[in-house]
Amino acid sequence: MTKLVYFFEEGRSDEKELLGGKGANLAEMTNLGLPVPPGFTITTESCMNYLKTPSFFDSDLKDEILKAIDKLENQTGKSFTKNENLLLVSVRSGAASSMPGMMDTILNLGLNDSRVQSLAKLTSTAFAYDCYRRLLQMFGDVVYDINKEKYNLLLQKMEIQLDKQVDYFEVDEHQQLIEAYKQLYAENNIVFPQNPIDQLTEATKAVFKSWNNQRAKVYRELHDIPHHLGTAVNIQSMVFGNSGNTSGTGVVFTRNPATGENKMFGEFLINAQGEDVVAGIRTPEPIEVLNDILPEAYTDFVKYANILEKHYKDMQDIEFTIENGKLFILQTRNGKRTAKATLKTALDLVEEKLISKKEALLRVTPDTIDQLIHPIFDATKVENAPLLAQGLPASPGAATGEIVFTAEKAKEYHNLGKKVILVRQETSPEDIEGMIVSEAIVTSRGGMTSHAAVVARGMGTCCITGCEAFSVNEEAKTIICGDQKLTEGDIISVDGSAGNVYLGSIPTVIADNDQNLQVLLTWADEFATLKVRANAETPQDLATAMEFGATGIGLARTEHMFFGEERVLEMRRLILAKNEGEMKLALERLLAFQQDDFYQMFQTVQDKPLVIRLLDPPMHEFLPHETTEMEQLAKKLDKPASAIKKQIEQLQETNPMLGHRGCRLGITEPQIYQMQVEAIFNSVIQLTQEGHNIVPEIMIPLIAEESELTFLKDMLIDKIEAVFQQHEMEPISYEIGTMIELPRTCLIADQLAKNADFFSFGTNDLTQMTYGFSRDDIGKFINTYKEKDIITQDPFQTLDQNGVGELIKIAVQKARETKENILIGICGEVGGDPKSIPFFQKIGIDYVSCSPYRIPAARLAVAQASIES
Ligand code: ADP
Ligand code: MG
Ligand code: MG
Repeated sequence: MTKLVYFFEEGRSDEKELLGGKGANLAEMTNLGLPVPPGFTITTESCMNYLKTPSFFDSDLKDEILKAIDKLENQTGKSFTKNENLLLVSVRSGAASSMPGMMDTILNLGLNDSRVQSLAKLTSTAFAYDCYRRLLQMFGDVVYDINKEKYNLLLQKMEIQLDKQVDYFEVDEHQQLIEAYKQLYAENNIVFPQNPIDQLTEATKAVFKSWNNQRAKVYRELHDIPHHLGTAVNIQSMVFGNSGNTSGTGVVFTRNPATGENKMFGEFLINAQGEDVVAGIRTPEPIEVLNDILPEAYTDFVKYANILEKHYKDMQDIEFTIENGKLFILQTRNGKRTAKATLKTALDLVEEKLISKKEALLRVTPDTIDQLIHPIFDATKVENAPLLAQGLPASPGAATGEIVFTAEKAKEYHNLGKKVILVRQETSPEDIEGMIVSEAIVTSRGGMTSHAAVVARGMGTCCITGCEAFSVNEEAKTIICGDQKLTEGDIISVDGSAGNVYLGSIPTVIADNDQNLQVLLTWADEFATLKVRANAETPQDLATAMEFGATGIGLARTEHMFFGEERVLEMRRLILAKNEGEMKLALERLLAFQQDDFYQMFQTVQDKPLVIRLLDPPMHEFLPHETTEMEQLAKKLDKPASAIKKQIEQLQETNPMLGHRGCRLGITEPQIYQMQVEAIFNSVIQLTQEGHNIVPEIMIPLIAEESELTFLKDMLIDKIEAVFQQHEMEPISYEIGTMIELPRTCLIADQLAKNADFFSFGTNDLTQMTYGFSRDDIGKFINTYKEKDIITQDPFQTLDQNGVGELIKIAVQKARETKENILIGICGEVGGDPKSIPFFQKIGIDYVSCSPYRIPAARLAVAQASIES
């Protein structure tokens, strides 16, 4: 039979799948000789077996656990069941990937009504009952789902009644509180199990079951963690941070998780247990202060932190407890960090020679890069914004939104299309769904390692914690802040980088370029084989694309140049022209506009390639739809309104996306494409005369037939030659290529390649035409499709490799049969999708082209694809 239970000394850090991350690392630390309280791990396989067949627990697992407890008793010289020399344990969940706060831990397990008295005699009453009270609370919460807050209310009530803090309770008062806690159990028709073995089995089962609770599932979905892995359960002998003033507990990152600075960053609390630091019950002290209070423990901690960082070659997030001056390490894992810190740490570790450049590139996710180019507030506007309050800058970014106080409200408002900011005293894992939809999170309590802070940093959501000026009343839905009162729906702006909350809204801009990002992307370029271009045509977008490191423009959509008020009028004049004169006038004016545009575009990209796509959309996209607009247009064109209306009606199509557009227009209305190439070459000639060396690339959209391409190519060449003649110049070289965006086109790519200088896949249309899903209407059912697992990803966001991808693969093969070195790109949305990029690498695409803000992430993704190929 497979082994169900591993003692820490039997495991290794690479057995995360079986032992969970926490268990594997406890094993690794034990074997490294670090002071880890002894214990054992029940495997993730046991969890899945139990979830599948509950009887497995009693038939197979229970005996193994009992044997392990025997062994743990021998190891520690303590007893789990007898009433003396007590062995108490913690029951700690731990899945393969860390899921912070997702599945709860129970401490002090093994206490009961009589054992608590032995413990009290041995140590102190306050300490023993503190442990028992915590056990009842955690056990009730984890095993029976009795809300933790209910116990806290009982405690608060008694503290007020007796007018003293729980630390100062007498024995009978402690017992009274314990009775009150048990009453809560009774109200739920439950009796707290007095037998330690029963406690252990119930707790283990509950942790197993928590794998399938709602918030764990949501977390897994958010982070792409498979549902079939299960959680391990770690049973570990307790050490007590709450046993007096030479004891304590803390959480430390070996580097700053917000900035990446190579300096320990963390907090601790004297005389406290478990997650007291994280829960924000008392205000913790910064870790350096430990050196003044318990210098030996501090020195030990620094030593072990260094060992762990060198061993794991990454920033560690370490949990420790000090019992009567002696340090114990209870957990280590690679620390979650902000995008900024991810980058700085990766670079620093390369400099410190702990990892290679390649490893550094693989450690940063494309998503991280996206977070680095997050918005910040417009500095000129922030100066005058009314500052409401300040808290801890827990997660960077900037956002404006309406205040909500609950996760439910956040979801409700979000579904109505509102932008929300979740404001709470502190967050808990139950709030996860609300946190996901919030633009920002603000908590009045908690530190930099609180739940809100850790989760927000992971999601890249802007967050402020410990915003103490906010007195938050979640019931009444109010915030009192100085003499101001805010309520649900009020608008605030949150700067997570500075920790500032402002009243009202502030416009955002994109953060300036991080130096480390430049370095990392330069490394990425060294390893990448796929190139990254941009889809851009406005001067602003072209400039951004160049700044972000595009190697050229893969798609400049000329129709975007016709959307200005003046320009669209000329376009309309052209479409509705009834005679030569009108048409000529419109074409002349459009030519002038386009020529200027192209001149500017070529100048911005300089010597880099620029693919210009000739006019693509159906005519009706340029025409007015409202009667009043049609009437205004008629006036401007000096024509009767009735005639205009009739003409527009005649141009209507039942299915315009399948209609008279793309190269079809180029064939029926040749003057438009002719005007466009004239504009292109007039500007190129001018730039050539100014000393530039430009090879324009002209792309024809929506080709389905070889003869469409040959017809248009001949037509364009004639026009281009005429332009050169007019300028009395020898023709310069240029390229004419086609977009591939129809399934038929993929299948005849070998024929087309004879007449095309390059290809670019328009994956948006290709997906639409292959699936028969309308790009514009898929929103109506895609979510249902995802919920019902019909498809897992929106094919307009991530390439459908089996269908659309297969067509692309066929086309690439066929094209290269005809022309081995034909340049092939991707210019649809999925070109910038990190999940699709490895496929494009695999099938031999030359470049991907995406919108400017996706370029930095795409540069990393193409490097990763080539490193891993
Ligand atoms: P999480 O997965 O939420 O981090 P843990 O299993 O790490 O949960 O438990 C939370 C905290 O409980 C730990 O950080 C530690 O302070 C405390 N704890 C867990 N096990 C023990 C133990 N054996 N002795 C003392 N404290 C413990
Ligand atoms: Mg926790
Ligand atoms: Mg922990």
